[in-house]
Amino acid sequence: MSSNPKHLSKGFVSIVGAGPGDPDLITVKGRSRIESCDSLLFDYLVDDRLLTWAKPGCEQICVGKRSGMHSMEQFRINELMVRLANEGKNVVRLKGGDPLVFGRGGEEIVVLREQGIPFEVIPGVTAGIAAAASLEQPLTHRERASTLLFVTGHEDPLKHRPRINWNDVVVTHSTLVIYMGMKHLPDIVRELLQAGKSPETPVAVVEWVSTPRERQHRGILVDLPRDVQRLQLGAPSIVIIGDVLGFDRAQMES
Ligand code: SAH
Repeated sequence: MSSNPKHLSKGFVSIVGAGPGDPDLITVKGRSRIESCDSLLFDYLVDDRLLTWAKPGCEQICVGKRSGMHSMEQFRINELMVRLANEGKNVVRLKGGDPLVFGRGGEEIVVLREQGIPFEVIPGVTAGIAAAASLEQPLTHRERASTLLFVTGHEDPLKHRPRINWNDVVVTHSTLVIYMGMKHLPDIVRELLQAGKSPETPVAVVEWVSTPRERQHRGILVDLPRDVQRLQLGAPSIVIIGDVLGFDRAQMES
């Protein structure tokens, strides 16, 4: 037997996607992991009703993150997850939407691998996909939209990699699904217009998708910053930009 503490690890971590908000949108597998776990580490945006499925005695810890101070908090979350697993616990790490879409699930996977802790990833319905469903709009179309781009509107200011090149984005003619875009929306729209995107491009915003607080807005690109301001739309919201939105409507109206 090795004396290396790594080999004493008997716990297991399930990184589970909670879906966008509506508790019914979690997977059956995700729910069963919540029902059987010893420790539940959940994010700030996760609906409370998901937590009621945990068994009595399950330790529930909110490791919620708001914007700012990400790296310190992520470091603590990783530490906690590793400690609990090393105590032999069945841990669920419940994350909003899908854990691997702008969710820092990748960083948690690296830590678990490094520490030799067995784990699994259970996908979730990501907010962008849920937003399209709420709008009853396709994100792709046989003739008009063959590619789909998930973009973050909130790049890490400390990041050393190059910023998003909006010229490259526009050239692809992809439908854009923008996460965390509300703060920098006027800059994003300006860059898209400068890169040649048509001012008339249809857009949609869905705030608090799949929750009772959901609000939707539809319009065109050039008006977007003003509309968002007027309607006081804020985070969490998904912004969808692309001809596929208007195309479907035009078809319906003709
Ligand atoms: N992993 C998550 C995304 C986390 S990043 C997922 O797959 O959905 C956080 C961003 O996701 C928010 O800023 C917002 O853009 C989006 N988001 C998450 N939940 C949302 C919701 N219920 N309604 C609208 N946008 C949401």
